[in-house]
Amino acid sequence: MAEPQYLSGNSPAISAFLDKFDTFLIDCDGVLWSGDHVFDGIPETIKLLQNKGKRTVFVTNNSTKSRKEYYAKLSSKGIPCQVEDIFGSSYSAAIYISRILKLEPPRNKVFVLGEAGIEAELASEGIAYLGGTDPKYRKLGMEPEDFAGIADGSALDPDVGVVLAGLDFHINYYKLAHAHGYLCGNHASKDANKSGKAVFLATNMDSTLPMCHSFFPGAGSASVVALSNMTGDQPLALGKPSQAMMDAVEGKFHLDRSRTCMIGDRLNTDIQFGVQGHLGGTLAVLTGVNKKADWEKADAPAVPAYYVDGLADLRG
Ligand code: PLP
Ligand code: CA
Repeated sequence: MAEPQYLSGNSPAISAFLDKFDTFLIDCDGVLWSGDHVFDGIPETIKLLQNKGKRTVFVTNNSTKSRKEYYAKLSSKGIPCQVEDIFGSSYSAAIYISRILKLEPPRNKVFVLGEAGIEAELASEGIAYLGGTDPKYRKLGMEPEDFAGIADGSALDPDVGVVLAGLDFHINYYKLAHAHGYLCGNHASKDANKSGKAVFLATNMDSTLPMCHSFFPGAGSASVVALSNMTGDQPLALGKPSQAMMDAVEGKFHLDRSRTCMIGDRLNTDIQFGVQGHLGGTLAVLTGVNKKADWEKADAPAVPAYYVDGLADLRG
């Protein structure tokens, strides 16, 4: 495999790189910013790409915020974009449910293990949901009747067809037990017309969440793995590196994959997303999770085609 090409400080190589692509899929955290801190020169770099006629699409695995909230954040940081140019893992999950699964009554509700970003995107696709941020599901502890109601399905909604797990800052046993009940089909077992387990989906599988110069449990570690362990089943994850997400991005933006480059800081999400999607290029940015030594390991999940110290280096 060819060595990744280092672009920082090499203007001719940067020009040649930019000429190869019409569209840049840009990861957010670790590339544009770290938490609330925007890296130097980012708004100018995005403007430069756009002034050169490149399309910039922001692709994030953060399921806790909706596209509208991402638009507000990008705009407040001076990064030019439109809400339509944002593609998050919650939106990816919502359109998978509405356009691929096409849930039909009576199994057309989604049980959510996650935050308001998931709820907003489900609502934007007209999908009914329960769980999520509803205070009813933030109860701590279990009563004997809670166990009984989940086991016999009387405390469950018979219309649930999907369990969607993302990062949930209020995760608790009560909510996990409900999700597990749906995944086992407890809510359907007594109704011959509503047989079957709920479909298991995840917004993303990120093991960690980089915050405040440290790491915290990500969706993969905090909620999804608990359900996988209980059921023995793996979810279909709809964030990067899922190719269901790539297909949806391609369809929405009419991408020519050969002239599209994925830019990101994480090898097992961003770079793998671009490599598996057979994009024309992948650019690793060293302001986030992974460093050069990570793709030099024999078991690296993916190797980028290009790398820069920071995205702003693309200004040449
Ligand atoms: N998940 C959550 C909850 C996050 O807060 C973040 C980053 O802020 C991520 C995932 C990773 O997001 P990205 O794909 O933009 O790096
Ligand atoms: Ca990232």
